[in-house]
Amino acid sequence: MTEWFTETLHPWLAQRLRLDRVLYREKTEHQDLIIFENEKFGRVLTLDGVVQTTEGDEFVYHEMLTHVPLTAHGDAKRVLIIGGGDGGMAREVLKHPEVEHLTMVEIDRSVVDMSAEHLPSLSAGAFDDARFNLVITDGAAYVAETDDRFDVIIVDSTDPIGPGEVLFTAEFYADCKRCLTEGGIVVTQNGVPFVQGTEVTNSWHRLGKSFADVWFFVAPVPTYQGGFMAFGWATDDKAKRSTDLSVLEERFERAGIRTRYYTPAVHQGSFALPRFILDLLK
Ligand code: SAM
Repeated sequence: MTEWFTETLHPWLAQRLRLDRVLYREKTEHQDLIIFENEKFGRVLTLDGVVQTTEGDEFVYHEMLTHVPLTAHGDAKRVLIIGGGDGGMAREVLKHPEVEHLTMVEIDRSVVDMSAEHLPSLSAGAFDDARFNLVITDGAAYVAETDDRFDVIIVDSTDPIGPGEVLFTAEFYADCKRCLTEGGIVVTQNGVPFVQGTEVTNSWHRLGKSFADVWFFVAPVPTYQGGFMAFGWATDDKAKRSTDLSVLEERFERAGIRTRYYTPAVHQGSFALPRFILDLLK
């Protein structure tokens, strides 16, 4: 009998992925974790009934949420990831030769351990990189207390439900600002505007309390159903968002990173927002 994973993120929309083989399932201290195999998307990580990442389409999300801020910054030596337990974000950050130190603050140890065991293609050795530093705690508490400073902060969180909710507050964003170096950049997983529009409007206002330049960039991630995925962008250096294409190309060329989605031209174009998303920024 064919089994299906049915996503429960929305009361009026659900996607199903055929459950070909369950690799791991645990009610962790924080969330309900399932890793399973699907013929089309490969291995899939879900938390609390929501698709987090799949081997099939993770490259779009992880490449955009790392190479856009890191290439725009141009010399990010110290990077912070909040969340990111599957390791895909760390893998892409550590491809940048200028990065000297990466801290990943993840609340759920099981996500890290089980992703390393059952989804090794995501972290692809990042967890063993000498520059990598894992902290298991709540990301909101970490940015409120740390004395460390970072050039880029990547909020790779779940949706604003359960443990992820605190990572969408004005207080959290103010604490991220506190941890940023001069001209630093914060980017966030900010939901699918067509079905989670309030997340963009809320982040627009909440980030706006702490940063001079707040915007969004987009990319389509097939298993984040509903169209474009939005990524929050926040910095006090307004020039970074409009870095010249030739500069982006030169920097990315120098980094020598192979990608399947990100290009400097896609980077620049991703900040052009369709009218229905612009209408959420008010
Ligand atoms: N790509 C996914 C998305 O767009 O929803 C996110 C993937 S990543 C697995 C999300 C991670 O955020 C999970 O590992 C979860 O444990 C972590 N997380 C949730 N709330 C957190 C918190 N308050 N502090 C640190 N990590 C948190």
